Amino acid sequence: MSFSLAIIGRPNVGKSTLFNRLVGKRLALVDDQPGVTRDLREGAAKLGDLRFTVIDTAGLEDATDDSLQGRMRRLTERAVDMADICLFLIDARAGVTASDEVLAEILRKRGTHVILGANKAEGRAGEAGVLDAYGLGLGEPLRLSAEHGEGMDELYHILRPLAEEYEERAEATAPVVDLDISDEDEDEVPDHTPSAARPLQVAVIGRPNAGKSTLINKILGEDRLLTGPEAGITRDSISLSLDWMGTPTRIFDTAGMRKKARVVDKVEKLSVADGLRAVRFAEVVVVLLDAAIPFESQDLRIADFAETEGRAVVVAVNKWDIEEEKQDKLKELRHKFEKLLPQLRGAPMVTVSAKTGKGLDRLHDAVLRAHDIWNRRVGTAKLNQWLEAMVTAHPPPAPGGKRIKLRYATQVKTRPPAFVVMCSHPEDLPTAYSRYLVNGLRDNFDMPGTPIRMFMRSQN
Ligand code: GDP
Ligand code: GDP
Repeated sequence: MSFSLAIIGRPNVGKSTLFNRLVGKRLALVDDQPGVTRDLREGAAKLGDLRFTVIDTAGLEDATDDSLQGRMRRLTERAVDMADICLFLIDARAGVTASDEVLAEILRKRGTHVILGANKAEGRAGEAGVLDAYGLGLGEPLRLSAEHGEGMDELYHILRPLAEEYEERAEATAPVVDLDISDEDEDEVPDHTPSAARPLQVAVIGRPNAGKSTLINKILGEDRLLTGPEAGITRDSISLSLDWMGTPTRIFDTAGMRKKARVVDKVEKLSVADGLRAVRFAEVVVVLLDAAIPFESQDLRIADFAETEGRAVVVAVNKWDIEEEKQDKLKELRHKFEKLLPQLRGAPMVTVSAKTGKGLDRLHDAVLRAHDIWNRRVGTAKLNQWLEAMVTAHPPPAPGGKRIKLRYATQVKTRPPAFVVMCSHPEDLPTAYSRYLVNGLRDNFDMPGTPIRMFMRSQN
């Protein structure tokens, strides 16, 4: 499990130069395709023995002056949401500018892990800018020269421990946070309702012939298309923005949408692996199954991948129009789902016909609800009342006669919800007990389906 790093910064600070240095070769991008604009690009980065995904907010240069600020802000927000870690670059020669302040504000608000980089710091010309950068409130700036390759060692040493953290599957979305339970934040829940500025991001994945393109075309056909095809994040996926039954939505897909978009593509056949990449950019993943051949190993891998990546999952069973014994079939499907994908307990399963459009309204509702749960924040007070009740009902074991004590819990992050439980001897706590807690959280706080992360941290 590797991590993703977004390079954030206003135009001209050296993002692309650094991107190219990390990726090491010129990428074949989709920008030669007519009618397609690109705004975020992604590359496979290499730094020493680290391998990770780097995301760059390219294309900002194309914006006209007065639209630049808003565009920069929106792009940055999107990149921040996609990435595990942000590398925020300023130009040390230019010092901190008003645009830098705007971006710093976004980064501070989002609470992501931020590394502050003062670029163009080779020689002495950047000294003042480096000092200036302390004032951004994002910690000590790292001196970089993307052009000359300076500071790469230091960057490596900062990323290394983070990479280790992300390597462990369970820690895939572990935030680096200070625990502070005195600060009740129930009243400060940010509004995550999809809007034009922050559309609901959905990926439709499934194996070939499941009906992905039929489904997306049906959705597009019946709703107003807000913008034309936009270039992908990766060369193998594109996204479309639309108004899906009143919800501003961005749908990511692979080959299927290209047919509709009439984008000529040299890549003829895309593998499921390509489709999986769209998952990284989605908030909700619709796993589309063919009712006639559901839950085959490929489907299971896809669903498991979405869960591992921490995405909200909705299972849609397609081609329901040709199913004859609907009641029996539904029972069988639910049974299989629970047995084969216990990690997605309670995730919605919706039957649809992409061909006739039947069930698409229910799919829309399920996607919205999954998104809502994925964004859910549980207040610390309620959480700890719940923890106490759980421990009383079923105390943790006492290996060697010493009972493991669970001190308190706090939610450290949403999208997906992640919790930290402070306890004595976390290493001795059986995984069955963690599972008991996770399932309890789901039931008590009405969070079915969404991946829930729980970390045990040591406190004696
Ligand atoms: P971005 O598009 O905003 O990410 O910026 P670019 O990567 O296109 O770089 C903008 C300009 O700054 C280009 O002329 C680069 O050659 C230059 N540049 C990038 N990194 C450095 C650096 O470390 N030192 C110096 N002196 N110039 C740099
Ligand atoms: P993709 O490879 O996942 O994009 O799948 P397609 O959208 O190309 O669909 C594969 C085949 O299944 C096509 O022949 C579609 O007409 C058919 N198909 C897709 N959805 C449905 C459906 O809801 N009902 C029926 N009967 N056929 C469907």
